[in-house]
Amino acid sequence: MTTRNLKEVTAVTSLAERAHATAVFIQRSAAISIHGSHRGEEYARIAVRLAAALGLDADDVTVTPDWLRCRTVPGEPALATVTDSGETYTFLVRCSYVEDEPFELLGPCPECAAQVPLADVRHLADLGMYLARGPAPLTDGPLPSSYPDTFANDEAHTGACGFGAQH
Ligand SMILES: [Zn+2]
Repeated sequence: MTTRNLKEVTAVTSLAERAHATAVFIQRSAAISIHGSHRGEEYARIAVRLAAALGLDADDVTVTPDWLRCRTVPGEPALATVTDSGETYTFLVRCSYVEDEPFELLGPCPECAAQVPLADVRHLADLGMYLARGPAPLTDGPLPSSYPDTFANDEAHTGACGFGAQH
């Protein structure tokens, strides 16, 4: 089992085998993580959750600390990155040990171009709806409802932006 990667196991095996392989993936990721075993397990669990939500393999997800937001919000924010067909998608996880929050898809702020949350993604259809319509245009009125609640006050907006934690 340990000589095959997760992708090879998930392609051909039963639910029980895939469950076992996923548990092994988490244990192995924790054991070898440069972030320590505790953080390594949290990151592996994020990879498993995002991979399941998007129909990918956990091996395809890279999880790293979010150094920008870790200074400003409680918990341990992390970034989960997936590259597929030449496109890279980065999702913010505000608190790495909370498992029932949506993934926040990051993309350029329409006003300042900083990488900020543009969509809450709980499953593949949420991503599909966002990709189909893109970010709604911003006006002087209320924030369009398609934006996640965290957009307006996200820490990544530049100082010149009309949004951000300083507003
Ligand atoms: Zn902005």
